[in-house]
Amino acid sequence: EEGESLFMLEKPEINFSDVGGMEREKQEIDLKIIKPLQFPDLYKAYGKKAGGGILLYGPPGCGKTYLAKATAGQIQAEFINVGIHDVLDMWVGTSEKNLHSLFELARQSKPCVLFFDEVDALGANRSALRQSGATHIINQFLAEMDGIAASNENILIIGATNAPWSLDPAFRRPGRFDRIIFVAPPETDGREEILKLQLRNKPVNDIDYKALAKATPGYSGADLKAIVDIAIEEKLLEALQKGVPQPITQKELLKAAKTHKPTTREW
Ligand code: ATP
Repeated sequence: EEGESLFMLEKPEINFSDVGGMEREKQEIDLKIIKPLQFPDLYKAYGKKAGGGILLYGPPGCGKTYLAKATAGQIQAEFINVGIHDVLDMWVGTSEKNLHSLFELARQSKPCVLFFDEVDALGANRSALRQSGATHIINQFLAEMDGIAASNENILIIGATNAPWSLDPAFRRPGRFDRIIFVAPPETDGREEILKLQLRNKPVNDIDYKALAKATPGYSGADLKAIVDIAIEEKLLEALQKGVPQPITQKELLKAAKTHKPTTREW
């Protein structure tokens, strides 16, 4: 199928223990989507259903995709990553078949997490899609979601957005993206954990993670990864010259933080 190359289907090797900080977010995901899947009868007794969708929202780079992937890993499920922006043209340009085949792929890959990045591209009140009159795509998408919710399948749908308030209320109805979780920029403790995770199993020398975390206010998980990557790039050149791994130091990480500025300050 031509379109399917646009989706990433994988069995993630990461789980919640690879996600730094986010204790509240992980607990919410556990209670709102993992436990309902594992104990459907208990939830049903209180009128709550398993499956359906949740919406992750928050500033870019704070690990929404990473968290969704880790959720799949946590329950040993497949992960299907769909960037709405990337697939929209295909969906609009072709028949309904393509959109349907994505949900079919999910059914064939159970248990799975079906992840939609940038849902607002599809569901924003004033999305370009709606204005161009391609509302049938939106309606079909919602119908497919309802189909999954109704059949109580082992498919978790997770959407991510930076702008939940611009989402059409139709997307927030029961069985659709009816639960919402704020993925916050990491606090000092979270940043410390993320830095430790990013540098784990790498040659380092006496890093003061607490001090580094304090020195990086406003840095997202992606920003912290960028800093570590900058330091690694430099170290690699040195290591190539010397022929043995050279440890990354505090000073180099602080220097990298000077060249890569934080992206989440406005939030
Ligand atoms: P966007 O909102 O733009 O989709 P995002 O919030 O999905 O961005 P990710 O792509 O998930 O951000 O994060 C980018 C990278 O940063 C991840 O692949 C991961 O390596 C690292 N990262 C982000 N947050 C964390 C975290 N909490 N713990 C460990 N690594 C993280």
